[in-house]
Amino acid sequence: MAKDYYKILGVGNDATDEQIKKAYRKMAVKYHPDKNPGNKEAETMFKDVVEAYDVLSDKDKRQRYDTYGTVDPIYEGGGMSMDDIMKRFMRMGGFGSFFDDEFGGGMSFERQTVSRGANAKVRVTVSLRELYNGGKKTIRYDRYKRCRHCDGKGYETDGRLVSCPHCKGSGYITKTTIYGHALSRQMTQCPYCGGSGKFVDKPCRECGGSGLEKVEESFEFTLPPSITDGAYMGINGMGHHGERGGQPGDLLLYFKVEDDGKFSISDSNPYDLVYIDEVPILDCITGCERIIHFIDGKDYKYTLKPCVPDGYVLSLRDKGLPKKEGRGNLLVYIKHKMPVALKSDDERLLRKLKKSTTFK
Ligand SMILES: [Zn+2]
Ligand SMILES: [Zn+2]
Repeated sequence: MAKDYYKILGVGNDATDEQIKKAYRKMAVKYHPDKNPGNKEAETMFKDVVEAYDVLSDKDKRQRYDTYGTVDPIYEGGGMSMDDIMKRFMRMGGFGSFFDDEFGGGMSFERQTVSRGANAKVRVTVSLRELYNGGKKTIRYDRYKRCRHCDGKGYETDGRLVSCPHCKGSGYITKTTIYGHALSRQMTQCPYCGGSGKFVDKPCRECGGSGLEKVEESFEFTLPPSITDGAYMGINGMGHHGERGGQPGDLLLYFKVEDDGKFSISDSNPYDLVYIDEVPILDCITGCERIIHFIDGKDYKYTLKPCVPDGYVLSLRDKGLPKKEGRGNLLVYIKHKMPVALKSDDERLLRKLKKSTTFK
């Protein structure tokens, strides 16, 4: 029993050539393997649609089909491979025929789906001082943007897209593999045209056909609070432009916080700064005033009470990194600083001190 080609295209038996063409266009776009990768059902539908149009668009074949219900022995039993179907599809004009019809043939249609641009990844080194001060930072990075010379088309104004000779414009090639006595035929994307089925006959002299040019972009952003090493931030649409008008990708900023040497970020709280103050042992015993040369360029004084233990932590409020509201603290770790050696006078005095019950 032959297939009902009218039903496949969703038209009546009395459909005009125009109606058949229109229905075919709709169905071929819907079930094209590019749009339905790995979908066997769509593949079968696509085969049927191509077959139906092949018959119904040909006056003789259609008449024979209408009269006898069958036309072409190759269609009996559905014996055509996907490769053959694709070839037939392309021979019937592929998608190009639709667009040539609609736009008067001025510009070939590209079957390639427009793809989104890649993300631009930028490593941003931030000093602790910048983090402390907060505010804005400007970075520069290489970005692929729509070529200004060809406006992203990829070819010169007098050039145009031509069919890829390797895959005859289908975007597919058939790979044949031999397993013992069996042949396996597989359709794969054409490596010469990247599956687009098209080549540029006069590539743009500025971008070489990609439609993209590399430019130095500058981007200003507000430093988010609490950046840690390895943190990242994504900015929508500031990545590379897609080829031939594709949406741009994102800009991904990977942060590296520069080591300061004197100050660091607390492991337990990203808003707190840590400072290790090495205090001479006798100052720790007697108590003293200390001065910190801080990252904001100012000097801060703090007081140590007598007999402060080693490892003691003082918290200086609001001297940490900016939060959404307010700031973290500056944690000052007291480290006892021992003399490297004792002079004989010092030793004599200390030995005398040792006799005091204070040091027992
Ligand atoms: Zn260009
Ligand atoms: Zn090709």
